[in-house]
Amino acid sequence: MSAFEEFSDYVGQINDLLCTVNVLNWDSRTQMPSGGAATRGKQLSTLLQLAQGRFTSAEMGRLIDRAESEVQGDDADSYRLRAVQSARSAFEIARRIPSALVAELATRKTVAEQVWEEAKPAGDFARFAPYLAPMVELQKQLADAIGYDDHPYDAFLTMYEPGMTSQRLSVLFSELKAGLLPLLQRIQASGLPHHGEVLARHFPVETQRAFGLEIAQEFGYDLSRGRLDVSAHPFEISFTRQDVRITTRYQPNYLAGAIFGIFHETGHALYEQGVDPSLTRSALTTDFLSLYAVGGASFGAHESQSRLWENQVGRSRAFWLLHFPRLQSLFPQQLADVDVEMFYRAVNRVRPSLIRVEADEVTYNLHIMLRTEIEMGLLDGSIAVAELPSVWNGKMEEFLGVTPPNNTVGVLQDVHWSSGHFGTFPTYTIGNVMAGQFMQAARRDNPGLDDALAQGNYQPLLGWLTENIYRHGRAFSPQELLLRTSGQTLQAAPYLEYLQQKYGDLYPVTQSTAL
Ligand code: ZN
Repeated sequence: MSAFEEFSDYVGQINDLLCTVNVLNWDSRTQMPSGGAATRGKQLSTLLQLAQGRFTSAEMGRLIDRAESEVQGDDADSYRLRAVQSARSAFEIARRIPSALVAELATRKTVAEQVWEEAKPAGDFARFAPYLAPMVELQKQLADAIGYDDHPYDAFLTMYEPGMTSQRLSVLFSELKAGLLPLLQRIQASGLPHHGEVLARHFPVETQRAFGLEIAQEFGYDLSRGRLDVSAHPFEISFTRQDVRITTRYQPNYLAGAIFGIFHETGHALYEQGVDPSLTRSALTTDFLSLYAVGGASFGAHESQSRLWENQVGRSRAFWLLHFPRLQSLFPQQLADVDVEMFYRAVNRVRPSLIRVEADEVTYNLHIMLRTEIEMGLLDGSIAVAELPSVWNGKMEEFLGVTPPNNTVGVLQDVHWSSGHFGTFPTYTIGNVMAGQFMQAARRDNPGLDDALAQGNYQPLLGWLTENIYRHGRAFSPQELLLRTSGQTLQAAPYLEYLQQKYGDLYPVTQSTAL
């Protein structure tokens, strides 16, 4: 066996463990009776410890050393070389994190999540604060262990979004703010009807499911390697490219939640199903630092695909001009008095709201900026845990013009901090921005792309995305993917142009708004 083959064999076993973790996680979120929770937690932690132990072992180090000397002459873009490089850089970081810190984070997380679940409905931040404060201290220690140049936040950005720094992020955010705030003001001043009420009629869930799955398949989701189930919080998860599952949540009195949720998770699933078969069980489908079997280049790159299919395709006028008649035939009574323009406006309703996961395309990124500023402040000590509710409410007023009436719909709404996930929020906005650049590049390479989309032919878009992004797995960094496709690193302009064009058309400047 060659050194690279030995390396790949060992990595394959780590990937097997992490795919099994994914199976157990999928099961616990879709099938498992509540009684199974305690022992399932043990099973997951045993498997994760095995995976982490293997990855940080001296044996792994030896295998990487030997594989490195074997692949050093390979082409700089070859998957072999990239696999070894990717394992090497994760290995160096993982070895810097003390195992005692990993263990303490895991223990604290279990308790903090439980307390958060109780504190959230009661809006009782004071109950959660004593559990959040030590989490923040542990995150600071983790950042120190990983290492950073400017700001502790950079350590987490390195993990989730290689190439991104807090400095680049603040430039990106100020560009976005400069574009989004005037757009939002204009939309709010327009006074045009949004027709949001047409989505709040009674829509039987089996029919919602049928329509969502029909579209997922039209986009290219392969059900011989996938399935759709129900869970409280929708997600996509893969156990290699051969089995990529999605979930959604149905609300009988709200049509948009499940349908766009399915489009979103389908975007994630297309990424995973599109990974090159040769990368199965490889370092290029393994996130060694997050201990997660995944084929996407970064959190942001993955999110770019869910948002591209959900929003740029699924919320476009072209999409609904084509598919609204089908939806109407499935819900003939509910949609009898609705025309396609009303429906298009309804699914693109913009309004500042309290809850991030319910936010529209225009306001969503403002929710992310608020969270990112707070996370950075917690890590550098400029914000104390005790002042979080007032800081949160102040920023909500500043960014969105709304003040949460209580902490349930305010500072306690997201699970992330109780789980010890700091630094993942900005990847959602990075995903939006990347989606704008990828769409622009796909259009440039395929002049007939919009005609094809208008006819419901998603193959040219899926083919371009697979060829340029999906098949590479984690071989290229997000910045490399952007450079290779658009010729530029992360740029806010294409995404802002997309929003300005779409919402400028939905909410044209009138005499009253021109002021
Ligand atoms: Zn997503």
